[in-house]
Amino acid sequence: MVESDPVQLVAERLAASTLTVVLTGSGTSAESGVPTFRDAQTGLWAKYRPEDLATPAAFAQNPQFVWDWYQWRRGIIADVQPNAGHRALAELARRVTALTLITQNVDGLHQRAGSDHVIEFHGNIMRSKCSVQGCGVEVDLTDDTSPPRCPDCGGALRPDVVWFGEPIPPAALESALQAVADCDVMLVAGTSAQVQPAASLAEVAKERGACLVEINPESTPLTAIADFVLAGPSGRVLPALVNALGSQNA
Ligand code: NAD
Repeated sequence: MVESDPVQLVAERLAASTLTVVLTGSGTSAESGVPTFRDAQTGLWAKYRPEDLATPAAFAQNPQFVWDWYQWRRGIIADVQPNAGHRALAELARRVTALTLITQNVDGLHQRAGSDHVIEFHGNIMRSKCSVQGCGVEVDLTDDTSPPRCPDCGGALRPDVVWFGEPIPPAALESALQAVADCDVMLVAGTSAQVQPAASLAEVAKERGACLVEINPESTPLTAIADFVLAGPSGRVLPALVNALGSQNA
């Protein structure tokens, strides 16, 4: 292994890190067979934009239509398995001093791969919550073919995800901001870094002096400020990183 191998250099940073933060996006689930947001408009849904489906206004106007889109996505997620990238992140948490995993994904695949205490920045598609402001009831997924009614107030239940124009759940935002302010290494994997405020988490970490590492086959707005760019699919790059860390610790 040559000293200038970027995977090896990042592994050295991870070995010395006191707090590593990982931010993941939908690209990390692509190798499991979950379409990324930009790719999710296939078949039946090809003529719609996510921005037209994933909004409170769309649900208010046509709850059945939005529910159907989520049921389709839930069906895909129920049928897939975590990939090597998800498993590598669960392993990474055991190899570094401390790790906080923040995900924009709503698919629960990190948890299924063995990651604990995942900060779900955009919620979880397998849960539903009441759409009535101030009600706050959350329920696990049911197989209803139309939006079920809230057991408390009778309002329509909706997917427990953050839609365009909605705030990040306060506890998730607070924990994520604290982690990026305190970390010394931040890995950003599989996100186009176009959805705010998630993308700005990496900027905060960088401003606070963390080593910023991007893992993505394509360049993004973060590429220019990253200290290391590991170009490639996360299902290949993340296991390579964990392997390299193993040789560091040996
Ligand atoms: P995005 O679709 O905007 O971008 C996906 C990124 O992943 C791109 O930069 C692409 O180059 C990269 N990518 C593709 N394949 C990859 C691979 N194998 N390894 C690593 N990177 C790969 O997704 P986003 O940035 O996460 O933002 C969009 C929003 O979509 C998020 O808010 C998220 O909540 C939502 N979303 C989630 C899921 C999911 O939970 N799996 C699926 C679709 C959308």
